[in-house]
Amino acid sequence: MSGHRADRMYLLQYGAERVSAALSLRGGPVERHYWESFVGVLVRGGDEWILFDTEMARAALDSPAVQAAYAAGDNGDDDFRWHLTPTPPADRRWTWGLAGDPLAAALATVGLTPEQISRAVVSHLHVDHAGGIPTLAAHGVPVAAHRDELAFARSGAVGVTAGFHPPDWSHPGTRWELLDGDTDLAPGVRVLSTPGHTPGHLSLRVDLPETGTWLFAADAADLGQNFLDRTPCGSCAAARPGDEELADRSLDRLLREAADSDARIVPGHDQLVLNAVRHPPGGHR
Ligand SMILES: [Zn+2]
Repeated sequence: MSGHRADRMYLLQYGAERVSAALSLRGGPVERHYWESFVGVLVRGGDEWILFDTEMARAALDSPAVQAAYAAGDNGDDDFRWHLTPTPPADRRWTWGLAGDPLAAALATVGLTPEQISRAVVSHLHVDHAGGIPTLAAHGVPVAAHRDELAFARSGAVGVTAGFHPPDWSHPGTRWELLDGDTDLAPGVRVLSTPGHTPGHLSLRVDLPETGTWLFAADAADLGQNFLDRTPCGSCAAARPGDEELADRSLDRLLREAADSDARIVPGHDQLVLNAVRHPPGGHR
């Protein structure tokens, strides 16, 4: 079985965003806001470093249009109590990210540079997951995404106010690798098709020799609460009939896979869970 397992894994935190609970929990209270982490997963499998999710770009973190899109969800609640992030942000910011290029800064914490990444994959093309793509493109790193996701972003059906920031996925040098669904990326590294939140949403499964199976939901489940209540996230970007049902099924799929493989399941934006599983020195084995 060892040939079917990755070697080691690091969990990265690039930053965080303050969002309404209604975005993360279907039917959740719009007036409650949480600080939610931006998470990356870095896996050594075969001879490759594979990166899952890439954070919010510096350009987006500093963009008045992106801040305004987040602020549009504000309803006057000034409660910033969810200060579990490593670096509490300044007041009245809706996002924060590591200094400089957050992707490069996060990789530096484990002694890597962007050009050492063999391959990246993005769960979906929302601004808080896709912002590192231009950095990877500049270093010739191929970026995998679901074919339906790129087609949806490029359709122009949604824009910045819905979390799609075109500079993230418009870099002409991007070496796209378009996936059609479940795909093995390397020994012990597999993406799982979990549509609903967006049309081509992907989650990640990692199998390690000592700690076993890990499932990274990305936005198929932002928080532990999604699993506890069997309630998916509150938004479906394409707003098509049937998208909410797809999101339900994707959540169920992750729960089933977790039960079948006794997996550790990590929601996409849960600061408490991330703090609990943040990588030990040398990474998870
Ligand atoms: Zn999203």
